[in-house]
Amino acid sequence: MGEFESTLNRQQAAIEAERCLYCYDAPCEAKCPAHVPIPEFIQSIRSGNMHGARVLVQEAHPLIEICGRICPEEEFCQSVCTRAKVDKPVRIRELHRFVTDSTDAAERLDIPAESRDRVAVVGAGPAGLACARELRLKGIRCEVFDARRLGGVPAQEVSWNRCPREVQEREMHLLASKFIDEVHIERVTDVGSLMREYAAVFIATGLPAESDLPIDGVELVGVFHARELLRTVKAGMASGTGRRVGVVGGGNVAIEVASVLRQEDPTRDVTVVYRRSIKELKAFREEIDEATRLGVTYQFLAIPDCILGETHVNGLQVTQARLCEEDESGRCRFEPLPASSYVIPLDTVVIAVGQRPDDDVFHGIGRSSSGLIKVGENMQTSMPGVFAGGDVVSGARTVVEAVRDGKKAADAIVAYMAGGK
Ligand SMILES: Cc1cc2nc3c(=O)[nH]c(=O)nc-3n(C[C@H](O)[C@H](O)[C@H](O)COP(=O)(O)OP(=O)(O)OC[C@H]3O[C@@H](n4cnc5c(N)ncnc54)[C@H](O)[C@@H]3O)c2cc1C
Ligand code: SF4
Repeated sequence: MGEFESTLNRQQAAIEAERCLYCYDAPCEAKCPAHVPIPEFIQSIRSGNMHGARVLVQEAHPLIEICGRICPEEEFCQSVCTRAKVDKPVRIRELHRFVTDSTDAAERLDIPAESRDRVAVVGAGPAGLACARELRLKGIRCEVFDARRLGGVPAQEVSWNRCPREVQEREMHLLASKFIDEVHIERVTDVGSLMREYAAVFIATGLPAESDLPIDGVELVGVFHARELLRTVKAGMASGTGRRVGVVGGGNVAIEVASVLRQEDPTRDVTVVYRRSIKELKAFREEIDEATRLGVTYQFLAIPDCILGETHVNGLQVTQARLCEEDESGRCRFEPLPASSYVIPLDTVVIAVGQRPDDDVFHGIGRSSSGLIKVGENMQTSMPGVFAGGDVVSGARTVVEAVRDGKKAADAIVAYMAGGK
């Protein structure tokens, strides 16, 4: 267990497991996109069979160590826990994490003989890795291509504090050594052309391109893009940001980068600048609480007008916003208040306003107006034999939803290979 011990000790885990009501319809399991058999693994903890608990979680989910730490359980399993009607929900994610922290990877997964046909998986994030593992468990050889490294966003951008290096490396090692026939570290530039060499292709390239802020001043020294910054810090380099940082955005990426910059230098002022109010922040509650604990401050109802400075940033001009009626998604619209602009003095602006797929790699594959890949019920794209899943299909979502897509696509690929369509 070492340095990264679970948040629960054995006794606390046993007490938490006792709280489960073992509902006959297991709403938690239905709500977990990876369909982890939650009541069963909790029952195993209760009876002291930790290895059995591990096998149950690991068979359903290829990235259990990562999700045990960063899965937004308040959106999924825990949100429907019946125990909340009595007092408070069972801490399912903490039990999930306890299982992974207190056991070694299970060897039980049976890996059948390899097929002759090979499948190419493009993008080794949660969706691609889930698909590769599932295919391999069904006896199909899999080669994986990634422009950077195995693991996708969790490995490249989520901070070591939230998911330690040791944990990620252990998980990646298991996947690479047991389930992937070959890893190619290269950027694929024409995904469809892989069909000439492989029986099927799964695209799981996520959202590598960062959206820009359409205002003056983005070319000034001191303007950064959030995800690039996260990759820099994660690779062990200094962020290069100044003393007064404004992070523009209200999603998980904005909150993550704000926390990372405070952790890098706790004396640095870091303010999240957001057009709406705290209620509309799209980041996970746990992450917002952690950022606030680290000393991140917020400037709500502020619409960026332009970044000020001659060559280097010296401020961000914003207009005050007011909230209006709710839109179709239930979030309040906002509008600028007349003659309300003011300047936030800053030496660094970090842009965290959205992400999208690359434009140059999907020749001949149908996409929506926002660039996301369109798929049918069986995750197949408009190009026969080419399947897709994860963020490149759904837009920015979560690790466990990408895992669900990868598993579903693997089933569809097997059916396609068996039927030839
Ligand atoms: C900063 C940040 C924090 C987040 N925090 C959380 C969290 O706490 N909990 C949570 O559940 N989710 C979180 N998410 C969301 C989660 O990381 C994503 O939903 C998930 O990683 C999507 O998985 P994916 O496999 O679709 O794509 P990705 O994880 O993006 O993986 C795509 C992979 O494809 C590779 N690639 C891209 N283009 C090519 C190409 N042309 N050729 C070859 N390879 C290519 C990339 O290098 C990458 O490895 C966070 C996201 C970000 C950005
Ligand atoms: S993967 Fe996420 S939703 Fe599923 S059991 Fe674990 S914490 Fe809950």
